Parts: sequence; structure tokens; C-alpha cells
Amino acid sequence: MSAMLAPVAMAASVDLPKPFVAQHRGQFTQGGLIVMQLQPHTQVFLNDAPIDVLDNQAVIGFGRDAPLQQQLKFVDMAAKTQTAVLELTLRPRDYQIQRIEGLPQKMVTPPAEALEKIRRQGKIKRAARAQSVRQTWFAEPFVWPVEGRISGVYGSQRFYNGEPRRPHFGVDIAAPRKTPVRAPASGRVSLAETDMYFEGGLIFIDHGLSVTSVFMHLDSVNVAVGDIVQQGDVIGRVGSTGRSTGPHLDWRMYWQQQRIDPALLVPPMTAKPSRAGKGKKPQ
Ligand SMILES: [Zn+2]
Repeated sequence: MSAMLAPVAMAASVDLPKPFVAQHRGQFTQGGLIVMQLQPHTQVFLNDAPIDVLDNQAVIGFGRDAPLQQQLKFVDMAAKTQTAVLELTLRPRDYQIQRIEGLPQKMVTPPAEALEKIRRQGKIKRAARAQSVRQTWFAEPFVWPVEGRISGVYGSQRFYNGEPRRPHFGVDIAAPRKTPVRAPASGRVSLAETDMYFEGGLIFIDHGLSVTSVFMHLDSVNVAVGDIVQQGDVIGRVGSTGRSTGPHLDWRMYWQQQRIDPALLVPPMTAKPSRAGKGKKPQ
């Protein structure tokens, strides 16, 4: 991919009905996460599915290929006749094509003897995301877990050694090995593994109500399952473990089963990107 990244245009602002939503933030686009502070007694439905509400906070997300037509419905549970229905059109994304060469072939097509390990690790990952704490940590404004050059963006269609594979769902931040990785928002550690086949050192942070951050390719993992971390706490160190061609952090996010673009949640980076590794494109 080119070093120039297409800017993410702001989605047209969407007005949510004031009698139901006190305020909200986030982008109504594919990969967007919307955090809403609701008026008391408000229930939210996304395409008729009820959304969990805690302390008048709710969150919804839209995956990479989410249908552009979405419906939000708000119901006042105290006076059930009061309802607002909103038909929304998400702003579509334009995804890049990214070619990654020079990976060991076993990382492109895992050998038969690795399949059992990959399957077992898949179960661990699914189990870690199957339950989410009832907390509203997702409502904190997120910060970058690491600052550095963005070397891979959300949604890119990927070719590994010329072979098409699943799209990339994270944001890749190139940084020197052992750079501290910080919690972008508070949460509970729901997975902490040092040797995953694809991800290498891997941490999940559960931010509540099915919002989860994923940190991959870590050189070291400094937290354990069950730990409560605050925004800014060091959780691990940047590495190049698993399917990776150079030191970087791959940060991914989920809302329920939808994959969210973390880059939409954070402000511009404050630090100048490190010039180390310029010209290389670690993935
Ligand atoms: Zn990546």
C-alpha cells in the first residue's frame, strides 16, 4: 500500500431525537461505533434488536460491510406510546488493497500440524468474547495505545504472498520493539496469551457491553485475565510475534460480532511518528 492514507471523511452528522438521546458521539459509517447517553427510561432497538442499556448509556456498532440502510428505534419505557423511528443511511467506506510479500509460507497457508492449535486457540478467543462485563468504560474518549506511523488501515483487502485472504480489520501502528502498549480506555482483561499462532502475544480488553479491544503481535504481555486496567496503564510491549513482518501494534475492536475501526475512536496522534523503520511496512 502507499504511505499516504486516504483521509476518513466525517460522516454527515446525524441528529438523534432529543427526547430520547441527551448526547451521542461516533460516526454513522461502516466501521463506526456510536456511544449514546440516553434520557431516562429509553430503550433502543437497532434493526428491531434490543440494545443493552446501562446507566442510560448504550453503544452500537457497524461492521466493515454493514448494510448502509439501518433503523434505530427509541421507546420511552415509562410511557410506551412514545416512540421515534429513524431510518439511517451509513456513509460507505472505500477500502484499500494491500499486498504483503515475504511472509513465511506457513503463515499464509498453515501446515496441517498447525490446524489443531489454530482451532484450539480459536475457541479460547471466542470464549473470551462470549461474555462481557456490565460496565460503561466504552464511554470514555479513547486514546491511542501506541503512537507511530500508521502502516495498515482497517478494512483493506489483503493478499499475502499474492494469495487473497480475509480483509485486515485492525489499525497497524509501527513502533520500535518493546514500546509500551497502553490501555486506550479502561476495561477488564478477558484474554492474555503469549503464543497464539497468528497473533503471537495477544490481549483482549473488555470495555463493557460487548465492546472489546484486541492487541496483537506483542513482545510481552504484562496483564492477566481478570485484571482491571485504567486508561493509560501499560498492558504489554510492541513486538513482531505471530504473523508479522516487523515490530508493530495491530489494534482491533469489536462490538458484539461486528468489527469496528479503532481509528475512528481516537483523536489525531500527538507525537511525531517515529522515523525508525521508515520505508519498511510491517504488518
Ligand atoms: Zn495488522
